[in-house]
Amino acid sequence: MLDIRQFPCLSDNYGYLIRDRQTGAVATIDTPDPDAINAALAAEGWRLTHILNTHHHWDHAGGNLALKEQWGCEVIGPKGEAARIPGIDRAVGEGDIVTLGASAAAVIDTPGHTAGHIVYYFAEDGAAFVGDTIFAMGCGRLFEGAPEEMWASLRKIAALPPATKLYCAHEYTQANARFARTVEPDNEALKARAAAVDALRAAGTPTVPTTLAEELATNPFLRAEAPGLRTALGMPKADAVAVFAETRARKDAF
Ligand code: ZN
Ligand code: FE
Repeated sequence: MLDIRQFPCLSDNYGYLIRDRQTGAVATIDTPDPDAINAALAAEGWRLTHILNTHHHWDHAGGNLALKEQWGCEVIGPKGEAARIPGIDRAVGEGDIVTLGASAAAVIDTPGHTAGHIVYYFAEDGAAFVGDTIFAMGCGRLFEGAPEEMWASLRKIAALPPATKLYCAHEYTQANARFARTVEPDNEALKARAAAVDALRAAGTPTVPTTLAEELATNPFLRAEAPGLRTALGMPKADAVAVFAETRARKDAF
């Protein structure tokens, strides 16, 4: 079982430290900001033993070398973009298990945002560290993947237990909600959630982690089959990938 600590850093990233209770092993999920990560470690009195990277972008792997030099920690990252992960010691992909002490994560390949993006799913804790693949009411931009790849990646996340907590790497929720309402204007769960999110942000409270159940009800990028979304897009009979692609294109232009 894990202890999980979350902290904001950079302009809108979330950092995460996870600690295996049985052994005291500690990982940072990505390395957005070494100073913020070190401050979070110091606040708990924890020692960093692992870096788990989701993808190569600088706000996820840019702090790898500084932290590895300081802590001598093991760097684990995606096989599909290993050459772009500074200091990588172990490259992993779909089907691999990453252990942190007595805790274990299944690795899920989620290409789309980047070509080799991976998610770490700790089933026993009901926790998935999803990087920039899925956000609250949003999904990552398609920098290195086609819509069908990202759609397949999102379908894998959607197949996890609905109570799974999704630890996203950015606080993009309010902007995502504004867009989501334009493509699903009649979704009552979405309306209610958007209002709740506005209240949370006004109070300075994170809206992350989210749960898969909440995303299934309100995230348009998981809802390509929803009749209301299809009506709003004027795509009543298109296949799901085409609906997803159109939703993503509209968000890019929003
Ligand atoms: Zn990214
Ligand atoms: Fe990012």
